[in-house]
Amino acid sequence: MDNNQDEAKGRTTYTDRHMTEGQLKHIGMTNSYNILIGKVAVHEVIDSGIGFLFHDIDHPTPIQIKKIIAYFSSVNMFEHSAEMRDYLDENFTKSGKPIYIECKCEMPLIIDYTFKMRCARCKNRLKL
Ligand SMILES: [Zn+2]
Repeated sequence: MDNNQDEAKGRTTYTDRHMTEGQLKHIGMTNSYNILIGKVAVHEVIDSGIGFLFHDIDHPTPIQIKKIIAYFSSVNMFEHSAEMRDYLDENFTKSGKPIYIECKCEMPLIIDYTFKMRCARCKNRLKL
């Protein structure tokens, strides 16, 4: 296979034709990591123009998180991988159920917008 074929194969037709599939995957993984860990707000990533994500933004699943963990391990980014493992342990039970108590207030009290939204009245999580 010559260089031209390699290049053509690596390119993709969506988002940015100049990025390879590998780059797109890495950016999606990194965006998801940054959002899940709470390093950036979702809107910052979405507004960046490279806002594609690897996980379901409203309902991240343990399967998605495990794929992100495996990806960062595979590219020797072990700190990212470990942080995502902590995220998984802190947010899901061993059987994959989300760990948090949902706000049941009829009128949830919203004062500050934060990464993991909580009702200011009962302090429990607000979940879509
Ligand atoms: Zn509440």
